[in-house]
Amino acid sequence: MERRPRSRAGERRTGAIERHLENKNALVTGASRGIGRAVSVRLAARGARVACVATSAENCAETVLACKQAGGEAAAFGVDVADTSAVADLVSRVVEEFGGLDVLVNNAGITRDQLLLRMTEEDYDRVLDVNLKGTWNFLKAAARPLMKSHGRIVNVTSVVGITGNAGQANYAASKAGVIGLTRSLAKELSGRGVSVNAVAPGYIETDMTADIGEKAASELAAAIPLGRIGGTEDIASAIDFLVGPGGSYVTGQTLVVDGGLSL
Ligand code: NAP
Repeated sequence: MERRPRSRAGERRTGAIERHLENKNALVTGASRGIGRAVSVRLAARGARVACVATSAENCAETVLACKQAGGEAAAFGVDVADTSAVADLVSRVVEEFGGLDVLVNNAGITRDQLLLRMTEEDYDRVLDVNLKGTWNFLKAAARPLMKSHGRIVNVTSVVGITGNAGQANYAASKAGVIGLTRSLAKELSGRGVSVNAVAPGYIETDMTADIGEKAASELAAAIPLGRIGGTEDIASAIDFLVGPGGSYVTGQTLVVDGGLSL
């Protein structure tokens, strides 16, 4: 009798994790900490070999170790995602060393929050350069190898890119831009076998949100319909879905993962 594949319930019962990314190569930006670290480790646990990218390779050393402990392979790379030619060189290097690319997660991002009247041109430009152009740089550099593998792309945006937020005009513009990139490239690349989706986190506990303060954090948690601030694993789960078998017929979408914050 043919053996049936293990069910999701079986996965929960045994604690085993389906290795649906066995022999696949993934590149995750912003992998040194926060959401990118959790995504890297999750993809490694699925069996992927992960290129962990941050501003320096040293910053990703701990993530690489965690990926290996999770049962995958990983290597660390450093680049400024806003530097177009450096990103092109880096992607070529990863594709050559790994022998191809199947999954790209554009996650690196920064904030430089300020009300409009106080926001400097430099604050505006840098946030757009890292968050939006940085995403475009990797999309451009990785498009051909991803077409070859019929790969998957996930861009990390934010609910703020949908709702807007006072004091975050630069950040919201960059994240709205990422949604536009995602939808346009889904139309361009889906015919070439590449799906392109976005994940929009709400409020997730990482270094980016660390200085909010305890009182504001508990007020925020109370305002979130699901009653808690998100964790990095919540975003890793959504990305895991989009790059896994369950996400194979999804493209051009923005999956909001915010506990209902933006409702
Ligand atoms: P984080 O903890 O601050 O980590 C940011 C990551 O991006 C780090 O790995 C950092 O590398 C990397 N990075 C920043 N600038 C870079 C550059 N110029 N070149 C290369 N790498 C760069 O952030 P996070 O909270 O995990 O956020 C990850 C993504 O989720 C971001 O796009 C963010 O906008 C989005 N997001 C976060 C939240 C939230 O509540 N946390 C909500 C919505 C959306 P280094 O360690 O080397 O600096």
